[in-house]
Formats: sequence, C-alpha cells, structure tokens
Amino acid sequence: MSLEDLWLDPSKCLIDGAWVAPAGGEVLPLMNPSTGEQIGEIARGRAADVDAAVAAARKAYDSVWSRTPAAERGRILMRLKTLVEEKVEALARIEALDVGKPLKQARADAVALARYMEFYGGAADKLMGETIPYLDGYTVYTLREPHGVTAHIVPWNYPMQIIGRSVGAALAAGNACVLKPAEDACLTALAFADLAKAAGLPDGVLNVVPGWGHEAGAALSGHPGIDHVSFTGSVATGAMIQAAAAKNVVPVTLELGGKSPQVVFDDADIDTALPFLVNAGIQNAGQTCSASSRILIQRGVYDEVVGRMAERYALLRVGPAMDDLDVGPLISAKQKGIVSGYLDQGDDLETAALGQLVNAPKGGNYVAPRLFAGVSAEHALARDEIFGPVQVAIPFDEEEEAVKIANGTDYGLVASIWSRDGARQMRLARAIRAGQVFINNYGAGGGVELPFGGMGKSGHGREKGFEALYGFTVLKTVAAYHG
Ligand code: NAD
Repeated sequence: MSLEDLWLDPSKCLIDGAWVAPAGGEVLPLMNPSTGEQIGEIARGRAADVDAAVAAARKAYDSVWSRTPAAERGRILMRLKTLVEEKVEALARIEALDVGKPLKQARADAVALARYMEFYGGAADKLMGETIPYLDGYTVYTLREPHGVTAHIVPWNYPMQIIGRSVGAALAAGNACVLKPAEDACLTALAFADLAKAAGLPDGVLNVVPGWGHEAGAALSGHPGIDHVSFTGSVATGAMIQAAAAKNVVPVTLELGGKSPQVVFDDADIDTALPFLVNAGIQNAGQTCSASSRILIQRGVYDEVVGRMAERYALLRVGPAMDDLDVGPLISAKQKGIVSGYLDQGDDLETAALGQLVNAPKGGNYVAPRLFAGVSAEHALARDEIFGPVQVAIPFDEEEEAVKIANGTDYGLVASIWSRDGARQMRLARAIRAGQVFINNYGAGGGVELPFGGMGKSGHGREKGFEALYGFTVLKTVAAYHG
C-alpha cells in the first residue's frame, strides 16, 4: 500500500494559494493504521504557520471573497463538486489508507463530500434576510453577513464528511477559512483544498495547516484574527477550544461525542431493526460520534434480539482497509490501547457476540467487534464513549425506565426508537434528550439536508442543512427612518 493515489506532497501547508513547507521545516509521521507502518510525512504546522494562514484568509476575505457575488461562490462550489466526483476513487483510496476505513466506506465519504458541495453550492445564493413590519415611517430589514474568517478544527474519523459540511457551508455563506485537519488523518483535507484551488477558489479563501492539536490547533482556536470556530472532536478538546475562543469573544460550534441509544420495544419490527442495531455500532470500527453504543431492549424480545445480533456479529470480518471487509483497524495504537482498556473493564460481563479478524497484519490496530449483554446502565461501558466497535445490550421493562436510561449519560447526540406504536414514538421523540431522534431507522442515510448537532456534552450549534448557513453568518438589523 502506498501513497500513489495522492497527487501532492503531504508535507506542505496550503497558505494563500501556495503549497509551502511549514515555517519550522518540521514534519510528523504519516502512519498506515492497517499495518502500523510509517508511509510518509506530513507538515508539523505551528503558530507561525497559523498566523500566516489567518492573515491570508483575512486578506482574501477583505479584497475578494466578501465582494464575490453569492451566485459566483455557489458556482465555484458546484465546480468543486464535479472535481470531487471525478476523484472519488482516488479520494476513497487515500482515505482508506490514511484512516483505515474499508474502501466502500471511504468511497461513501467521498461521494458525500461531493454532495455537500452540491448542496451548499446550490444554497449560496438562497441565503436571505427578511423585512420586518415596524413603526410607521420605518423600513426594517435584516442582512445575513458572513463572520469573516472562520477556523475549522476537524478530527480523523470522517475527514471528508466533516470538511464537507463545515468548510462547504462556511464558504457558501461567504467566509474565508483556515482548516486544521487531524494529525492522524490530513490527506483528504489537502486533496480537497487542492481541488478547491482547481475549481477557481481564489487564493487565501481556504488555507490548510496540518499539525498537532496543542500546537497548530491551539494557535488557531485562540487566534485574535478568527471570527468563528467550528470544532468537531472530543469533549475535553472542545472545552479547551471554547475557552480559547472565549478570550476573543468569538462564537464556537462544537460537535462532540455521544453514547447514543437505540431503544427496541417488544412491538418492534426486529427484522428491519437488526442491521441498524449492529451497523450503527461497528461502522468505521465504532469511531463515529453518532455510533450507537447502547442497545436498550425490552424484556419480551431481549433474548431474541441479543441472539440475532450475535448471529450477525459472527459474520463480521475485520481486516485491512484495502481488503474492504466489514470493519477496518482503529486509527492508531493509542486508540487501540484506549479501547482495549475498556474491554478489560468488561471482563466480568457476558460477551454475547464477537466479530472475527481476517488476515489482519500484526502491526495493525485491530480490535474484534464485541457485544456485551445484560449490562447495567451504571457500568462504565454503558456510560463512557469508547470510540471503538463495542456495544452493550441493556434490558428494560417499562417505557419510562427506557427513557431514564436513554437520558442517563452526559451526552445527547442521537437516539432511535424501534416500535410500531405511533403514540409511543411521539412521546419518546420528545422525552429523549438528543439532537437527532430517529424512528424505526438509524441515521436516515445521513443526508446533508438534515441539521446535525448535540445537546449536553455532545456540543452545541448545528451543522448540515440550511441551519449551518445560519450558523456561519451574523444577522444584522437595518432600520431606516424615512418619515
Ligand atoms: P480530538 O479532540 O483529540 O481532536 C480533534 C481535533 O482537535 C484534531 O484536529 C486535533 O488536532 C485538534 N486538537 C486537539 N487538541 C487541541 C487543542 N488543545 N486545541 C485545538 N485543537 C486541538 O478528537 P479526536 O481524537 O480526533 O476524535 C475523537 C473524538 O471526537 C470522539 O470523542 C468523537 O466522539 C468526537 N467526534 C465528534 C463528532 C461529531 O460530529 N459530534 C465527529 C467526529 C468525532
């Protein structure tokens, strides 16, 4: 496996339209999670590079982007959509190599990236203010203006999807961006920025500075030249970023973790539910903010659901990303250590189901998917975000108890309800504290149209959909007195 699909030098930053080495000339190792081997080097951007990127974005915003008509911004994003589509296979292979996700999942991410460009390209010139009826002699209206320079700090688990929804919406709304991809997976961020350049995005409107979080990331989130920060990642880092941005009184959107439940009632259509119950837990090796790591099952169908989930687990094959099996490796040896630590905490629990490793190279970061059964809602495995292919089955008796368990963690990202009872569906959709509630499905295919975000420690602010465009703009009220 090699970097042959990448058409640029991954050890550079993109600043003001030029690929440049970081000011300090330093690099970080580029690792292949499927083998544990180093396959290249990426830039180790630091504060000086962030300074240059923010200055470039400001200049581009003031001189070009803030004067570019919304329809033209949209056309550039539409061209970018076409360029991404032409590169879907290359992007998928690059992502599979870098993140370790099976090729088909990486391909879906690349297709989604194109769709984000299409949606936000089409939306750019449909973002409007309002006129407001007011006192006699006044004409009052609102303008939706871009923040100016926006910072985007993204994680390694879904780089293309997260860049698509965050940078895509910000550019459409008229902002100039500085993107700090994750140190564990920055290749598709670089490739995307290069395609944006080719699509005609003016120099400096999108800048990319890879590097460590505590160096490039911290410099960016606390930078006085930034007008808005969009962050996706862990709760601990999100809290630090919010604190850093607060010093400059800058708004922040936080998309953080989750411990998302699926609640299966006795009257559920279990045949339909089963693939969702399992896939939502093991997709991307469980390294998904919206992973469903808790399966709450009413007693009447508990044994049947756990048994049938176990049958599906037994068929799950885990191996290198390019083998394109069901599950790939975890992103890093560090992440494998964290997940293994949680598995050790489950030693006294019943393992109801296990996936199997297939030709998994020794040095790769593989963990077989595991379902623990009969887990108490208080157990660490039922409360903490593990970020690995680990699910717990929790039995319950009554609806009220299910709601209490579902709401019993610090998180509130996603929940799903499996039941044929319409009234119950409506009751639970209101009672469950989560940014997204799905009824008789999980994720609804993840369409760009659907606003996405959390409650509680899952974060605040919304990305995706038209809602994201509101988030990347400031509302200005204009009141004219004309007598
Ligand atoms: P992380 O918070 O460690 O890193 C995310 C990004 O923040 C990376 O680019 C990193 O370099 C940067 N960063 C780290 N420390 C920083 C600092 N001090 N200042 C500024 N930036 C810093 O998270 P991760 O390990 O990459 O991702 C895993 C976590 O992210 C999980 O908890 C997961 O649930 C969450 N996540 C949430 C969503 C969502 O949409 N809600 C999506 C993906 C991941």
